[in-house]
Amino acid sequence: MLKTSSVLDLPIHITDSYIQWIVEQWQQRKGLHIITLNAEMTMQAQHNEQLSTIIKRAELVIPDGAGVTLFLKSKGEKVQRCPGIELAQDLLAVACQNQWRICLIGGTPSVLEKTLHHWQTKLSGLQILNAFDGYFGSDQESMILQTLAELQPDLILVALGVPRQEVWIAQNRDHCPHAIWMGVGGSFDVWAGVKKRAPRLLRENNLEWLYRLYQEPWRWRRMLALPQFVWRVVINNGEKN
Ligand code: UDP
Repeated sequence: MLKTSSVLDLPIHITDSYIQWIVEQWQQRKGLHIITLNAEMTMQAQHNEQLSTIIKRAELVIPDGAGVTLFLKSKGEKVQRCPGIELAQDLLAVACQNQWRICLIGGTPSVLEKTLHHWQTKLSGLQILNAFDGYFGSDQESMILQTLAELQPDLILVALGVPRQEVWIAQNRDHCPHAIWMGVGGSFDVWAGVKKRAPRLLRENNLEWLYRLYQEPWRWRRMLALPQFVWRVVINNGEKN
């Protein structure tokens, strides 16, 4: 069962096992858009109506970030943080067991190639039907969409960054209405080995954001969303000022 809670007017879904719920939906051929909500995306959605609408329509919004998880816990919800990259990894393992057909979209050509190598080595038998880098023009985009429509994959991982991947999935998911579509942000960079996740100690202490800032200092402006999120949800109880 999926329970819907909310953070700053956006839905967030809570269940004991996301993976089990997703498999059940797949068995019923129900298409899914999975969104990995964190504080940064929550704050972007406050002034991006299109993103906000897409999050509200998605079948599954998971608590990807420490900020949203801590907020839900403060409301008395029994919830565990579910980092998108870990859910995507679990999905690929399930996909391998069940012979799901997969497409990957996003990342630079070199990152994509390394990502393919990573998964083909790690999960032999994984059926990655096709993969497209994320730096496409409109002609290539039409070709990608036509290929997706022909292949009808079970799982489509899209790594174009937030909010582009969410918008792209929402605009194009009708081409594969029974597929599980998931935006995975920088996961391909991690699987390709060009970026690292924060060490476990930082992850377990809700300090993944600090490591991200250290690794990608140019993100500081985007990451101002974190103190803004804390201000809005914790100190100001959801009010704007
Ligand atoms: N990316 C892409 N096409 C673009 C812009 C970005 O494929 O036009 C990829 C980029 O190579 C990277 C991912 O999107 O692999 C974005 O990663 P980021 O860590 O910025 O994700 P976010 O923090 O936005 O979730």
